Amino acid sequence: MTVAAILSDKGRDVITATPEQTLAELCAILTEKRIGAIVVHDPADAIVGILSERDIVHALAARGGEALAMPASAFMTAKVVTCTEEETIIEVMERMTRGRFRHMPVVRNGALIGVVSIGDLVKFRIEQAEREAEEMRSYIATA
Ligand code: AMP
Repeated sequence: MTVAAILSDKGRDVITATPEQTLAELCAILTEKRIGAIVVHDPADAIVGILSERDIVHALAARGGEALAMPASAFMTAKVVTCTEEETIIEVMERMTRGRFRHMPVVRNGALIGVVSIGDLVKFRIEQAEREAEEMRSYIATA
């Protein structure tokens, strides 16, 4: 099963921000949209970073409340690891585990077409395992 299956299930909406937006603004977006990370893009829509809840925790630990008025660019991760729709769920889970992050922007020809989280991937794996177990049960019952 590939990343495309997840995107067609959860949709391809991507919440983005610009590097100039403040940490406080990004906190508000994360809360309102109930997500854990925001992809940061430039005016040409190129991905220039990703900022997750963990970065906000680090920002507050390092700078205290003043971090909230600072730009997202001060705290985001600029070297963003991305995946494509054609990659399998297992491959992407392995890359997230190795990289120790829980969000992965999905790109096609350099353009952002979705975001998958470790939660999305685990949900699909569990559903797949349940389907396979059910198929096995009905195969045994009819054999
Ligand atoms: P997360 O586990 O996604 O909350 O992120 C943990 C750390 O990894 C944070 O510093 C994020 O900015 C960073 N991060 C999250 N997703 C990615 C990604 N796809 N590529 C590179 N860094 C990431």
